[in-house]
Amino acid sequence: MQQREARKAGNVSDGLLKFSDAEFELLLDCVRCGFCLVSCPVFTQTFDEVDSPRGRIHLLRALAERRISITQTLLNHLYSCLACRACQATCPSGVRYAFITELARAELERKGFGVTKRNKLLRLLIRHVFPYRKRFELLIRFVEACRKAGLISMVKRFENFSIFPKALREWLQIEEMLPSTRAKRAFYDGRTVIKPRQKQRMKVGFLLGCASEVLLKDVNEASIKVLLELGCEVIIPEEQTCCGAIAMHTGFDEDAKRFAKRNIEAFERYDVDAIVSNAAGCSTAMKEYAQWLNDDEAFKERAKKFSQLVYDWTEIVAQLPFYEHMKPLPLRVTYDDPCHLLHAQGIREEPRKLIRAIPSIEFVELPEAEMCCGGAGVHGMLFRELSMELLERKLKNIKETCAQVVVTANTGCKLQLQYGIKKHGLNVRVMHIAELLALSFGV
Ligand code: SF4
Ligand code: SF4
Repeated sequence: MQQREARKAGNVSDGLLKFSDAEFELLLDCVRCGFCLVSCPVFTQTFDEVDSPRGRIHLLRALAERRISITQTLLNHLYSCLACRACQATCPSGVRYAFITELARAELERKGFGVTKRNKLLRLLIRHVFPYRKRFELLIRFVEACRKAGLISMVKRFENFSIFPKALREWLQIEEMLPSTRAKRAFYDGRTVIKPRQKQRMKVGFLLGCASEVLLKDVNEASIKVLLELGCEVIIPEEQTCCGAIAMHTGFDEDAKRFAKRNIEAFERYDVDAIVSNAAGCSTAMKEYAQWLNDDEAFKERAKKFSQLVYDWTEIVAQLPFYEHMKPLPLRVTYDDPCHLLHAQGIREEPRKLIRAIPSIEFVELPEAEMCCGGAGVHGMLFRELSMELLERKLKNIKETCAQVVVTANTGCKLQLQYGIKKHGLNVRVMHIAELLALSFGV
């Protein structure tokens, strides 16, 4: 209260991080109760207050009040946050943690303290490659060619990476996270409108996504086939682009807003009943376009309308008569909640309902299913050690379930889990929920 009054009286100076009065007020909503601490995957690894949601809010406030200055250590604490939103879902005071950190990251980026400032290659990829499907595909082809020619394994034979130039070291770290994949043609390639075979129930716009379309095309194929089987006409606008989530999380808010506008224009041409994504990070981002473009007079209303139409794939499928299409799958299955589905969208029951409905499935709950797997967009490439620690924790829990299949509902999580399972030689298959349903549907 005193802080609010002091600021109103002009006693709190504007720090290096510029927040508007309304934004600064959001920082003051945190009453430092600490309820969020145990839900934070980073805090529960490091047990360091400055790696907790409460600690980070405190740091941001201290920065805004010019009580501390920006150091690399401070930036590491701020950026080690996975943006998983577990804290926000737990907070009894309704602190808008995700919104606050996105504002702060954008401001830090503008001031020259962005998270990717020290990793020029990743910065280039985030801004100019990952969001553009053709460029992303070219990158993957290049990586595959290097792997085939044995160049990567040759370089990795050197134990002391420090002898290599920084750019090459950065590249090797990124390469390790990119899965092996073959260029694949799918039945929906080049098609904008795909009609269901039976009676049409609804018209659904489908976001292909960047990682899904380039690295996990099978997941997109399964997602679209299930929608068609359930009587959806599927619209895939050619002009669609990246959802903007990674740009927003890494401080490139203007890029993110540009992508949002392009998607709004692309989908609003088709008068769809729903806009669907099979990646929880993308569906979360699109649900937030209304918030992103709230200050943009030309797009404000259009963004609101767009966001109201957005559903996660699991959400829409759970509303359709899926039971009648399911055939038995005698498998022991567990489910890992994607952070952006559970914490950001509050979707917990729908995926479980879909999995449990499959005849003969033996469903077993995963311990700590709500904890981040460490993928978190590009976080795993920036904070490798932390990401691997979280992945190890997740794999240990998966092993405990003795499941044959671990199901997730997000492409980023699927990539991270696949990476860990392959690395540790575990006998567990990772499936996106759309793949599991497509298998049960026999499509
Ligand atoms: S963010 Fe919320 S839960 Fe965490 S300390 Fe602040 S008020 Fe408490
Ligand atoms: S978003 Fe996730 S990682 Fe970041 S502070 Fe909240 S719980 Fe921790």
